[in-house]
Amino acid sequence: MNRKYIPPKKNTNNLVTLALTLVVLALAAVVFIMILVLKDGRPADESKSTSIVSAQSAPQTDASSQAVSQDTSEPQTSETSSQTETSNYEDYIGVKYKIDISQWEQYIDPEDDTPYLILVNKTNPLDRNYVPADMIDVVHTRKDGRATQKMVRTAEKALEAFLLEAKEYGVTNVSVTSAYRSYDYQEQLFNSYVNQHLSKFSSREECEKYVETFSARPGTSEHQTGLTCDMHNLPSAEVTFANTPEAKWLAENAHRFGFILRYPADKTEITGYSYEPWHFRFVGRKAATIMYENGWCLEEYYAHIIENKN
Ligand SMILES: [Zn+2]
Repeated sequence: MNRKYIPPKKNTNNLVTLALTLVVLALAAVVFIMILVLKDGRPADESKSTSIVSAQSAPQTDASSQAVSQDTSEPQTSETSSQTETSNYEDYIGVKYKIDISQWEQYIDPEDDTPYLILVNKTNPLDRNYVPADMIDVVHTRKDGRATQKMVRTAEKALEAFLLEAKEYGVTNVSVTSAYRSYDYQEQLFNSYVNQHLSKFSSREECEKYVETFSARPGTSEHQTGLTCDMHNLPSAEVTFANTPEAKWLAENAHRFGFILRYPADKTEITGYSYEPWHFRFVGRKAATIMYENGWCLEEYYAHIIENKN
């Protein structure tokens, strides 16, 4: 009986061994599963880090596309179909033209704007003989007996569109008091200012320096380009014009018609001229929009765009 009693013990031993084996197997299985999970986890981490890399490269793509759109008029730059260009431009700046712009577009956004980007200032004077080609009468010349002013055709047509749109916003009483001025006329104008103020200075040279802050020396006036006009609704050009709703509308919308406010209040050190809220210069819509958006004057536009291209 005792001997018979033994086998069950052996069986128990066997059962214990079996149980232990099962536990070991189960542990092995758990370890195996953990290894599998860890292995799965690693590729997941790797894919995460890949996605971080792509996320890092994504902003770069964004940045480059931003850079493209900061070229501002990238949408407007390629001048193929003017209708698409118009809607692109309107979408881009988020303002629609109230007037039918289609007939004006060729002027406000000329295919080649290079001739309209000419930089004239105290360090970049024009020759005495420089007379712009293709000038026409300025239809918005003030009707007070003065000679009908002249401007380069493209700029004059763009100005017509500008003031037509202005009318839609209630800006109805702004007129052009001065546009193209010849070298000789500018010379007379400058000399008359000098003579007028001469008594306040110890030398003519000093007086000329003073006059230069508000009147250009012959050759350094933008008016000689035929791309510029002075327009306002006051008896004579004064800084107080800036406070009128008309001046504010003109300044805020000039770029849509290819114009810039050439001598802004905060750029006097760069332009060399005091604030002239009445003096508008045609440069074409692409450049005007870039300058408007970046808050650049023409000299800064040259520094950022033109000189970087060369
Ligand atoms: Zn002017």
